[in-house]
Amino acid sequence: MTQPHKPDLNTVNVPDNFTKVFLTAQNYVRNYFSIIERDPEKGLVQFSDERYILVRASSMSKEFFDMMTQLYQDRGEKEARTLAFNFLFDIAHSIGKADAKSFFSKMNVTDPIEKLSAGPVHFAYTGWATVKIHPMSNPTPDENYYLIYDHPYSLEAQAWMEKEEKTKFPVCVMNAGYSSGWCEESFGIALVTAEIECRAKGDRHCRFIMAPPSKIKEYINKYSKQAYIKYEHYKHIDVPEFFKRKRLEDDLQTYKTQLEKLVEKRTDKLTKTNQRLEEANIALKVILKQMETKKKTDQENFLVNIKHSIMPFLDQLSQGNLSREQKALIAQLEKNINQIASPLVSKLSSKYLNLTPMEIKVATLVKDGVVNKEIANLLNVSLNTITSHRYKIRTKLELRNKKINLRSYLRSLE
Ligand SMILES: [Zn+2]
Repeated sequence: MTQPHKPDLNTVNVPDNFTKVFLTAQNYVRNYFSIIERDPEKGLVQFSDERYILVRASSMSKEFFDMMTQLYQDRGEKEARTLAFNFLFDIAHSIGKADAKSFFSKMNVTDPIEKLSAGPVHFAYTGWATVKIHPMSNPTPDENYYLIYDHPYSLEAQAWMEKEEKTKFPVCVMNAGYSSGWCEESFGIALVTAEIECRAKGDRHCRFIMAPPSKIKEYINKYSKQAYIKYEHYKHIDVPEFFKRKRLEDDLQTYKTQLEKLVEKRTDKLTKTNQRLEEANIALKVILKQMETKKKTDQENFLVNIKHSIMPFLDQLSQGNLSREQKALIAQLEKNINQIASPLVSKLSSKYLNLTPMEIKVATLVKDGVVNKEIANLLNVSLNTITSHRYKIRTKLELRNKKINLRSYLRSLE
């Protein structure tokens, strides 16, 4: 009796319920990689008509890391490591996504679990590592996605272990990047992977947890409580983030934009304050000018008042029938008044000052509301003379051909 041929699932290690689907994947991936063409004369390495490149594993892990550390030695080992690991994670994650996309389309795979199953087999065939998926895994295409798995024979762990005794940190960052990239493409959700234990570090396995970014810390925390390694270790696990630099740059840009808006707002406020100050300044200047004008007018009015209201009557009084003593007193009075007024006369260039004593008398009476006929009687002259004086007064006050009432104007000068 011949036993029916039962193929082994030997490139990956999965829970029983996944065996069938992984076997299918193993078959077509094996076929894919069995069609090989190598032609160094054309610089060609090809599987199933798809071109590949061969890269030394160490140059992409330990040696790359060393180069970065040297390049960034001024910034310290931790920053150099972060930079190198972020870079390697981003590259591997991108390659994982792109490889998955191309592979699915070429092999016509559409079901998410079938897509996922091709990943670890493809991973083994391309030389990264083999994959052991743990039974606690729950790869569902939603935020409950949880994958816990080991990468036996990790290319990165090996590269480090050959050159260094033990690292203080997990090193299989490209493994993490590639597998999360592949699974992200399979399920259409954002996924990140953290290596929680690493052989290069002296741990028993290279072990990874893959989950949506919002859940990964929670899963690591949960795992750490039943792990054989002491709890402290898991607190310091870096969770790589795809294109972290891009997010940081975006954050920086957002911050910059906010800052610019703030500056704009402040500038606007300052401009408004400046405007108000300028307006206040203008208002003050106007008030000052008005005060100066008023001061000048007050001085002029003072002088005009003396000329109009006192001097003509004093003059007339002095021509009356007075005793010698009285005349002397009046002369003294006139002298004193002139002394008071004279400093102003020199200071002011009043347009009223060239009024004759007679005109000043007439103007004063007009201002007081005395009608022409009465003025003529009071000053003992004809009505025509008063009319003529009024004409001259208007001319000297520059009121000719203007519809301005003489009395009102004279009152306004008071
Ligand atoms: Zn590792």
